[in-house]
Amino acid sequence: MAPGDHRTTHPAYLDYAASAPLRPEVVEAMAPWLDAGHVGNPSSIHQAGRQARIGVEDARDLVAQALGVHPLEVLFTSGATEANNMAIWGALAEHPNAHVIAGSTDHPSITQPLDYAQQTGRAQVSIIDPARVDSSRCGRIESDAVLKAVNEDTQLLIGTKVTSEMGVIQPISDWFDALDECHPDFLTTKWAHVDATQALGRVDIRPLAKRYTSMALSAHKVGGPQGVGVLALHRAKQLISPILGGGQERGIRSGTIPVALVVGAAQAIVSATQHREQEEERLRALSKRLREGLAGTDWTPTVAARHHVPDIVHITAPDTDTEPMVMALDRAGVYVSAGTACQSGALRDSILVQAIGIPGSSATLRLSFGWATTQADIDQAITALREIPTGGRPTGNMGVCVF
Ligand code: PMP
Repeated sequence: MAPGDHRTTHPAYLDYAASAPLRPEVVEAMAPWLDAGHVGNPSSIHQAGRQARIGVEDARDLVAQALGVHPLEVLFTSGATEANNMAIWGALAEHPNAHVIAGSTDHPSITQPLDYAQQTGRAQVSIIDPARVDSSRCGRIESDAVLKAVNEDTQLLIGTKVTSEMGVIQPISDWFDALDECHPDFLTTKWAHVDATQALGRVDIRPLAKRYTSMALSAHKVGGPQGVGVLALHRAKQLISPILGGGQERGIRSGTIPVALVVGAAQAIVSATQHREQEEERLRALSKRLREGLAGTDWTPTVAARHHVPDIVHITAPDTDTEPMVMALDRAGVYVSAGTACQSGALRDSILVQAIGIPGSSATLRLSFGWATTQADIDQAITALREIPTGGRPTGNMGVCVF
């Protein structure tokens, strides 16, 4: 049997940052709404429609409570990609050709629309590259860099609370404190958008609630269904949306609200926020076990433990191809990501990985875990990573599995 070929009946799913397994209580909450007896468009005025509307509004209340915002501020979307796009295009519709600040490690659902806006003359974009502004090279964007990027035309500031690739925690509260000090009107007159997709359930995002203009979330990262997310939008903000139609969600996000999905999203958001503190210790112990289990191998953690959430661990090994490694781990029943999973199938060289000085010849893996991960899953990953050979990267053989 080749190393890494010991397929088990019990795969170790370590790709929660791409999509987490549905929590049992989410399945339970959604089940009645998937039943044929539960027909109804929440916009219909007959009894079935009113029942569906109650389901939606109860879900909205639960999300609002979990996030510490008013229910009117919770808009259901198809996910964080849509929520990020809505904030960007909404801000640019209000302020054409505005100056926008974002980070190079933000998700493509932020960087791609901004690239497009810049190319089509709809925005002037400043991208802060953590590698240039962070002497410790851990991927953090400090307040100084944000303050330096602000100019009199800045209308939109975007921050990712936890980055998807390396799980780096951005000090967004510090940014806001620094802005309050140096540009006292910024947070009340400009648009501050937070992508909290990977932060939800991992760090406490409630303290940000009173300060941002909008925030993006996604249910499937926290054990909810795929295809539903939230744009938390300040009550006083009206957003000119690119999606026009039936006028649902304060007229901002037209389209029939999928009742079962929003009920599942609400349950997942409630569970993730409620169990966060109690889960933290367990996840930190798993993270430590993983790091210690890899000690003495070619695999090293990319970011110091104190700068990333415990349940997203990014590792590198020199002179090794990433893609064959992901495939060998797959055969060993260990599912991980290379780079961001949203780019799956098209392994790209991450800007951050390049920028923080990891040679292009190194393999980079993201192991991410969560509510259902056990010590046995972590041990299975350690065993596989120890067994599958690293090094000896074949030149001119990119993309071919050599194991
Ligand atoms: N932002 C971040 C930080 C993410 O990690 C992701 C998902 N990889 C998204 C946005 C997009 O989320 P969704 O899948 O809900 O569109």
